[in-house]
Amino acid sequence: MTQMRVLLTGATGFIGSHTWLNLLACGFQVVGVDDFSNSSPAVLDRLHQLAGTEPAFIRADVCDASAMAAVFSRERFDAVIHFAALKAVGESTEKPLAYYANNIGGLLTLTQAMAGHECKTLVFSSSATVYGKPESLPIREDAALSSTNPYGATKLMGETILRDLGHADAGWAVALLRYFNPVGAHESGLIGEDPRGTPNNLMPFVAQVAAGKRERLKVFGHDYATPDGTGVRDYIHVLDLAAGHVDALNYLLDTRQSITANLGTGRGHSVLDVVHAFERASGTSVPCDFVARRPGDVDASYADVTLANTVLGWEATRDLDTMCADSWRWQRMNPNGLAG
Ligand code: UDP
Repeated sequence: MTQMRVLLTGATGFIGSHTWLNLLACGFQVVGVDDFSNSSPAVLDRLHQLAGTEPAFIRADVCDASAMAAVFSRERFDAVIHFAALKAVGESTEKPLAYYANNIGGLLTLTQAMAGHECKTLVFSSSATVYGKPESLPIREDAALSSTNPYGATKLMGETILRDLGHADAGWAVALLRYFNPVGAHESGLIGEDPRGTPNNLMPFVAQVAAGKRERLKVFGHDYATPDGTGVRDYIHVLDLAAGHVDALNYLLDTRQSITANLGTGRGHSVLDVVHAFERASGTSVPCDFVARRPGDVDASYADVTLANTVLGWEATRDLDTMCADSWRWQRMNPNGLAG
């Protein structure tokens, strides 16, 4: 069989880098694209070490139409996995135009370049944020969709654009993958989540408290309708998520059918569950303060993963203790991230 050629955008980011490695392990030829706006070129050296071959990489911004056209003119791709996007909810409320320009502008530029070169197989990074405030749990793919901030709106709109594209041209095969809460790191400790400045997300913040870089965790809300009063989420190991992308890609290539699927474990853990698991994994304590709820947060969110299990044959296998152990190894080995 000829090797399939895949273009990855946002390739040096957290999920992109882990997926890149998994694609190579599964025999795909991969070209990565990133503008390093939220990642470091050092990721490429780490991928080289892990994969044993030099990763093929093009530095480019997905919003740059001529750069994207040049990427597709240079070589043929069978499929694209599109990760490149801005992803901080709080920042999106302060800079909505940047979020719409990057996330929607980038998707349009990319799909136009793809269409122009007869590449119509796409895996899109969506998010459980498209479920807004879920009406029932666990969340199925046919649940009502809504957004509560510009970031969420860009994911919802991205899905709509791609659905419309599929309706207009049956040649497109698109996977909309709705991620729950990606955490953890590669077990080597060489690649992981590398947030700039103060982490917005729980697990990297907890890791920095455990490492002594930050004093205390602020637990946002302890009066939620959950067993211990703190928010419940479906944390999923980034390596399981990466495997889900490869399975979704194979599904598109094999069936030419589009699919919308949740990627989660199907299990919910509270903020305090995460704190305690991280304390066990790191052998340190994570001091906490209980503070007010963060605006826009929901009580609980976890996936119904039946569809991904049955249609893609995919299942998350790593538990919360493994997520914390891998996140802690990455934190210890890279105390200042990759830029520092
Ligand atoms: N959270 C917290 N303190 C923090 C960051 C997050 O208590 O410093 C809580 C947040 O309220 C939510 C959970 O941790 O219940 C996961 O938040 P995160 O931002 O990681 O992901 P989200 O589910 O909001 O996308």
